[in-house]
Amino acid sequence: MSINKVAVIGAGTMGAGIAGQVANAGVEVWLLDLPSEDNPNALAERGLDRLRDPNQPGLISKQAEAFIQTGNTRDNFNEISSCDWIAEAVVERLDIKKDLYKRLNEACHDQAIITSNTSTIPIRLLVENMPLAFRKRFAITHFFNPVRFMRLLELVRGEDTDPAIMDILDRFCEQQLGKGVVPCLDTPGFLGNRVGVFSIQCALHAAFELGLKPQEADALFGRPMGIPKTGVFGLYDLIGIDLMSDVVQSLVNILPPGDAFHVEAAKIPLMTRMIANGQTGNKQGKGFYRDGENGRQVLDLEEETYQSAPRLNLRIAEKAENEGVKHLVDDDSIYGRFAWRVLSRTLSYAASLVPEVGDDPVGIDDAMKLGYNWIKGPFELIDEIGVDYFIDRLQKDDMAVPEFLAQAQGSSFYRVHGNQLQSRRTDNHWRGIKRAEGIIRFSEKRLTMTPENSRDVASWYDLDGIALLEFHCKANALDADSMAMLSDAIESVEQKGMRGLIVHNDAQHFSCGVNLQGVRDFIRRDDLDGLDKFLADFQNIVHRMAHAPFPVVAAPVGMSIGGGFEVVLHAKQVICHANSVTGLVESLVGVVPGGGGCKETLYRWIELLKCEEDISKACWKAFMNLGYGKTATSPIIAKQQAMLRRNDRFMINRDRILSEAIAAIKNPVEQVAFVRPELALPGKPVFEEMCSWLQESRDRGLFMPHDVTVGSEMARIVTGGDVEAGTVCSEQGFFDAERRSFLTLVQTDATRERIETMLENGSPVRN
Ligand code: NAD
Repeated sequence: MSINKVAVIGAGTMGAGIAGQVANAGVEVWLLDLPSEDNPNALAERGLDRLRDPNQPGLISKQAEAFIQTGNTRDNFNEISSCDWIAEAVVERLDIKKDLYKRLNEACHDQAIITSNTSTIPIRLLVENMPLAFRKRFAITHFFNPVRFMRLLELVRGEDTDPAIMDILDRFCEQQLGKGVVPCLDTPGFLGNRVGVFSIQCALHAAFELGLKPQEADALFGRPMGIPKTGVFGLYDLIGIDLMSDVVQSLVNILPPGDAFHVEAAKIPLMTRMIANGQTGNKQGKGFYRDGENGRQVLDLEEETYQSAPRLNLRIAEKAENEGVKHLVDDDSIYGRFAWRVLSRTLSYAASLVPEVGDDPVGIDDAMKLGYNWIKGPFELIDEIGVDYFIDRLQKDDMAVPEFLAQAQGSSFYRVHGNQLQSRRTDNHWRGIKRAEGIIRFSEKRLTMTPENSRDVASWYDLDGIALLEFHCKANALDADSMAMLSDAIESVEQKGMRGLIVHNDAQHFSCGVNLQGVRDFIRRDDLDGLDKFLADFQNIVHRMAHAPFPVVAAPVGMSIGGGFEVVLHAKQVICHANSVTGLVESLVGVVPGGGGCKETLYRWIELLKCEEDISKACWKAFMNLGYGKTATSPIIAKQQAMLRRNDRFMINRDRILSEAIAAIKNPVEQVAFVRPELALPGKPVFEEMCSWLQESRDRGLFMPHDVTVGSEMARIVTGGDVEAGTVCSEQGFFDAERRSFLTLVQTDATRERIETMLENGSPVRN
């Protein structure tokens, strides 16, 4: 059986999210909730509305929305009879869920699959008293919020669930919904929340016990540990302090009395008072942090008053982020003690769960990486710190050493054997890590390979005759070394007769642009020639990539913005992820894209609008994209914005883009050559129109003064500026114009101020 039509019941946070992702996959879906009085479908419609939130769009396009029909469980329940999968996502109440299943059993067809999104209720309780035929078709599909963006899906089988049903769900959720499916046993909290919430609680209590300020704890329990930068107090604020307390309580309710979680779940009196005072986090505008008149403020945990919270730069945190977490746990300071307290408890808790939750480390590590965005899972972290070091320190601290950890003494949890990555099993044997056909995570693949050439920030590998270039530094910010590696890969493909080049990495973001610190260094040294050379080299390398005599595919995930997107723009084909974010955001920091971004935006608008004869319209479109620093939150939107070309494609599962890219190199039928002819520029008349428009917008208070200056440079590049209409410009002419404007702008105080403040505070001044 295949899943051709879906019903989601319960249109709250999760139900709406699941329906949205089903629609993103191009599958018809009914979204039902309880009937309301005036408008019976109001609740489901509200769910759909939340998917339209521009800050976190649950849908990849307007077209996807057409796959969703909203309704209610009174008037539209019979629609269920035509659905192949019914995903229940109603409130976490056993009685309500059980009542619903009785109705579903009557209404759905006899092959239909029914799943629950429950986080805490065991499957046997959900289906007790239901007929065997229903129990055979029932499972738990535990999605994470927000459904479109969180990769993890925990798939839980009941005692009676038919294995064939599990296969159908696994395939559908992995291939069509793009999830990383982790099979779980029916144990409390499954894998992700069991370890994830434990780690958050550990960090919270450690911060209070050691007297760390929230901003200190957040600076440590974040990137330095390979955890999202939200931190622990930031995360409490984001989720809601009240809601998070409920999540903790629900785990307390289901975990057995001896579980180590209970210690970490102890209530903190200050937080109880905060909930009573309505200081529950971002939704209320105040929690551990709040926005004050002069910037962000943080709660003083002793005084219980808000104080200013300047950005914190902890040297040890930076060192750990760049060189590994071992530096942090080894550090003698209070920060090191905090890190050790959190990691020693969390990682040994994870180890203590084996074999209860599974017989090897892969499921737990996958759950934490896909569900909590950790860069490494708990067992990978223990390997990084060193199993023996870890055990030794636990013993020194009189902490128990879980059996699975003790078994690994003198060894590790993962190893590369032959060409294969293997994980340790509870029976002391090793098992090869097998992913479904077509799934390749380069972060895993790379462990079994040696790079052909490598620098600190980038490396390239020979992947069976295909060069794969990977950026691998903080935010994958590009500098001369990253570009030199790209250049070396391009040259080597040609010299060695390799099949082609893929530019890809498996980090959170493909690349957040050119390293701004490097640009600032040029400015501070007043080395404009050096900066010009950096830009010219950058342009030259991406130009060689675009016009290379072999196939080139860029396979970006996460954000590719600024200079990172300029690399992508010069690949002959892009195969990206459905959630890839693209755009040229240089205007924010007061510069223009200087690596071919302006040029490509213009040529692409001409292609899209088919206006080769009179390019003025395309100039306006390019000017708008660049000036506003527009970003596209999906490849479909990117195509509409002329950021991607017609042969560019996306995959809904990011773990599949590398195998697609390899296939596209081997069979390069979709590669489109770059034809970049000379263009007759609209020149002065259109340039002046754009400048007047900028000035009018400034007069109406829509732009800041420097926006006008930066916008004028963008207008100059795409129109030719003060030249006569019809003046001809070559591809190289556009490259040169970009560099000229870039150098003009970095000599202004306002651009320098934007760059400095961006580096200092993470956001540029509006000037
Ligand atoms: P929610 O409160 O946002 O939404 C629940 C929805 O169910 C509401 O719109 C409510 O009107 C509707 N509902 C209640 N009774 C109903 C019925 N009889 N028929 C139809 N609709 C009914 O809840 P949520 O956060 O979306 O959680 C839903 C499920 O997903 C729960 O089982 C929860 O444990 C689980 N879950 C939640 C999260 C999360 O982060 N919120 C994550 C994973 C799993």
